[in-house]
Amino acid sequence: MTDQDIIVIYHSPDYPITYWQEWLDKLTSRIKLVPLDAPEASMAEVMITWNPPKGAIATFPKLKGVVSLAQGVDHLLSDPTLPQDLMIGRLIDPFMSQSMAEWVLLAILKEHRDDAIYHVAAQRKEWIKTIPKIPEDFTVSVMGIGAIGGHVAEKVANFGFSVLGWSRHEKSLTGVISLTGKDGFNRCLAEADYVVSVLPLTAETQDVYNADSFAQMKPGAFFINCGRGLQVDEDALIAALDSGHLSGACLDVFRVEPLPQDHPLWNHPKVTIWPHVSAQTSPVTAATQVYDSIMAIRKGNPPVNPVNPARGY
Ligand code: NDP
Repeated sequence: MTDQDIIVIYHSPDYPITYWQEWLDKLTSRIKLVPLDAPEASMAEVMITWNPPKGAIATFPKLKGVVSLAQGVDHLLSDPTLPQDLMIGRLIDPFMSQSMAEWVLLAILKEHRDDAIYHVAAQRKEWIKTIPKIPEDFTVSVMGIGAIGGHVAEKVANFGFSVLGWSRHEKSLTGVISLTGKDGFNRCLAEADYVVSVLPLTAETQDVYNADSFAQMKPGAFFINCGRGLQVDEDALIAALDSGHLSGACLDVFRVEPLPQDHPLWNHPKVTIWPHVSAQTSPVTAATQVYDSIMAIRKGNPPVNPVNPARGY
């Protein structure tokens, strides 16, 4: 270690420390990432992390701030021991918005273009044709139209679908009807052929998709969740699928992750499971803003995308 080294704590169960160190090294040779249990960690002023163990952050006396290696911050704000005066930054990365738009469009278009029907027919060497569907005749409700959901909604609209978007504040997005409040929520559920959820997890959005909300959805609606698993009552979802009320679901996030081996969602014939990869963080596109946030926090300035913990997202 030299006098110039900046010690930054790194914790992310999904990727080794070298994954981020290599990319930060391209920007500066000064930052040294260390794990939670390294002796130097006690000197660190900044932590970069995804899903640290609850209580861990509070054990570092010199920490001025934490940078989420994700766009969501529920993994930080749900820690009851999180020091109140800590600066918190999150990512806003156009690559992630684009990744999510790709994933949502993949989920929608597989249904819209009868992918499963043609797949089965091809296996049987059957030359069949389904009736073509006009995108404008199908409504997609995007629940949460912030940095990611707003981009998703515009991309889906660009494919010709009728798009409703739900948020707390009214938005102006190309091709998207902006709705707010309980009435907006109800309309989004009632009119959608595809309900796409990109909501952050907060006290208000936890369990927002429950038996009542699934019942409000149009018969035959398809549910797509890439927000957070704790927003969904999974038993109620399975019941809505089993009753035939919902036609299917494509899920990237779950109440417990990794999804337990014995969970009934794994084998459900109407459900497609993804392992929380719909919009992964890449240091290729995010390293610069992480570096800028580290430097800002060390100087006592806010990180690049500061989070207001009182807002909850
Ligand atoms: P933003 O904070 O930019 O946007 C959140 C959106 O949700 C905003 O439009 C906000 O409304 C709306 N919202 C929040 N609370 C409510 C509420 N109670 N009622 C109505 N609308 C609400 O977040 P991002 O777009 O960056 O990310 C959204 C979420 O996506 C993340 O928090 C994370 O959970 C998830 N995510 C999942 C990933 C994955 O791989 N599965 C990857 C990345 C993110 P308003 O605009 O009015 O404030």
